[in-house]
Order: sequence, then structure tokens, then C-alpha cells
Amino acid sequence: MEYITKNAEKTKELGKSVGASLAGGEVLALVGELGSGKTTFVQGLAKGLGVTKQIVSPTFIIMREYVGKSFNFDHVDLYRLEGDLKNELDSLGLTDIWMDPKNVVVIEWAEKARDYLPEGTKWVRFENLGEDGRKIVIEE
Ligand code: ADP
Ligand code: MG
Repeated sequence: MEYITKNAEKTKELGKSVGASLAGGEVLALVGELGSGKTTFVQGLAKGLGVTKQIVSPTFIIMREYVGKSFNFDHVDLYRLEGDLKNELDSLGLTDIWMDPKNVVVIEWAEKARDYLPEGTKWVRFENLGEDGRKIVIEE
């Protein structure tokens, strides 16, 4: 599905409705340039999962875990990582975390780890349209 969000609030609303629709065990892979709205979307998504804590960008620590209403929510940002991300994903514990249906994992800059993400990963692509907002394409 393709969406145009006109402002940040709309980006959050879209994230929220996606978050509320999750069943647990999903891995969402977010792709898009800096400033295209990924973290904004994640803030809404966390709301939809019933996370009450504020979501801050995990850029400097790579991963943060939150507790939602029914699931744990793991927010990952691979922006600063380089090299063999297979080992990084392992040492973050992600390869175990995403096997567990009690968890929902959302990964920003997921294309860096494309080859190592699990089957069934749901891709979400963000595009900055400037004045016109953001284009967000959620893979079926
Ligand atoms: P990313 O995580 O992709 O780097 P952010 O989510 O941090 O991007 O968003 C960057 C900026 O874009 C923020 O200031 C946010 O409020 C803004 N933003 C998000 N969605 C929209 C939109 N649809 N229209 C205009 N600005 C938006
Ligand atoms: Mg971000």
C-alpha cells in the first residue's frame, strides 16, 4: 500500500495504525534517506503497540527495547553500523529476539542487513517529497 502523509502528525497516525494491526513476531524493515520520516513513523507505531515511554532515536546505541501492551518492541537503527552486519545482528541478540512472537522488531536503515533479515520481513519505504510531505510504501 502506498500512502502520502502531509505532515509529521499524519506520519505518526499511519505508524500507529500499523502498530495496532500487528500480531507479534513481525520484523519491519524501514528504508529511506535521512529525514524521510522513519523515526516519526516508529513513534506512532510504538503508540499503536501501547508503548507509553517516549521513543528516542536509538542511533547512538543501535537498539532500544520498550514494553508494549501485548508485545515487547525492539527499535533498531543500523545507520552507524558498517561491515559484516550478520555478526552485529547476532551480538545484538536480534536473531533470537525476532524469532519470538512476543516481540515486534522495527529496523531503520534495514537495507544494510538485507541479506540477513528473516523470511517474512515486511519492507516499508520512505521518500521525502519536500513541501508535499512523505511517501510511505508498505509492502504487502
Ligand atoms: P528519519 O528517521 O527517516 O531520519 P525522522 O522521522 O527523524 O526521519 O523525520 C525527520 C523530520 O521529518 C522530522 O522533523 C519529522 O517531524 C518530519 N516529518 C515526518 N513526516 C513528515 C511529513 N509527512 N511531512 C513533513 N515533515 C515530516
Ligand atoms: Mg531515524
